[in-house]
Amino acid sequence: MQNIIDRFISYVTIDTQSDPKSDATPSTAKQWILANRLVEELKDIGMQDVSVDEYGYVMATLPANTDEEVPVIGFISHMDTSPDFNGTNVKPRIIEKYNGKDIVLHEKENIILSPRYFEDLLLYKGQTLIVTDGTSLLGADDKAGITEIVTAMEYLIGHPEIKHGKIRIAFTPDEEIGRGAAKFNVEKFGAEWAYTMDGSQIGELEYENFNAAGVTVTIKGKSVHPGYAKGKMVNSMVIANKFANMLPPRETPQQTEGTEGFFHFSHITGDVEKTVLEGIVRDHDFDKFEARKELLQKITNELNFKHGHVISLEIKDQYYNMKEKIEPVFHIVEIAEEAMRDAGIEPLIKPIRGGTDGSQLSYMGLPCPNIFAGGHNFHGKYEYIPVESMQKAIEVIVKIARRTAERYGASSAENN
Ligand SMILES: [Zn+2]
Repeated sequence: MQNIIDRFISYVTIDTQSDPKSDATPSTAKQWILANRLVEELKDIGMQDVSVDEYGYVMATLPANTDEEVPVIGFISHMDTSPDFNGTNVKPRIIEKYNGKDIVLHEKENIILSPRYFEDLLLYKGQTLIVTDGTSLLGADDKAGITEIVTAMEYLIGHPEIKHGKIRIAFTPDEEIGRGAAKFNVEKFGAEWAYTMDGSQIGELEYENFNAAGVTVTIKGKSVHPGYAKGKMVNSMVIANKFANMLPPRETPQQTEGTEGFFHFSHITGDVEKTVLEGIVRDHDFDKFEARKELLQKITNELNFKHGHVISLEIKDQYYNMKEKIEPVFHIVEIAEEAMRDAGIEPLIKPIRGGTDGSQLSYMGLPCPNIFAGGHNFHGKYEYIPVESMQKAIEVIVKIARRTAERYGASSAENN
């Protein structure tokens, strides 16, 4: 257990926060520090073809140890941490045998990690938790994933009696700003399918996510002296308000769950002359997703008919539900489920109300479900991770390698 803790701490104490305002890849130069470190470490543990490309994507190979024709599989996690919260000077603390009570993260500022608010904590009574000091995020998202992949590879190298095909691993920059898959070289990676180790609670297995689009509604008005405006003024803010009110009132983020979709306006700027509404459209079902976009167009047309051509609508697809790409190769989910049960974990399969790098990679030709990495409360000071969940994730990676080999005729010795 100590080697997992040490490895995890060695990663989270390197600041790798990404920056959405930068156009470079990686978006912040400091991500190179971890990338270069991982290259050295992967060579040290005996991985082959260890490389880092010009964009900071680290890749490496664990060669097959069987002659059977087993498909190449991959494991992926991301190196950056969220720009939403401080990632500098992370000072992780270890809580041994967690007693189920409040954990004081920062005494002076009275920052407390409490199971009264974060009930999930009670799942981990008696376990070893890693928490923050209340001034930064922890970075378990997704340095837990990196820890797990590196440790699992080290384990497989040390246990040649466990038969596996060729395994590829990759660590990406800039996932938190939506660009983790952007410059991912799928061809170079060369895996038939992969798993991102980027989920939260132990047992999570995800292969469905939203179809997603960004929406910008620009409304042009006509400003006239209000005292002499009769029949002349067009107030763009009033039309923006009409637009928003023509959407189904219950289909908002705060009123939906599971696979229910929504419209969401997240930003507005405006005056009489011009108002810009920015928002998003989300739906797991592709036809409903298309229908949502059509509704926006219909409202635009209606209001344009009524007020003269005042609205321009821009809709940009952002990502799609990976389910479409996973269903034809569903054995890759079954292998992960079997591996979890082998490790004594009941899979928690649920649709993601968001997207992952895996959804984009799936559409780039690399089907890529998402597996738990074990952390909770990502992107903030209450982030924590039980070490036991990391141990289980490592076991799941090892079992996936083994199960995949077995499906294609390479079996390991008993009791491994
Ligand atoms: Zn993540």
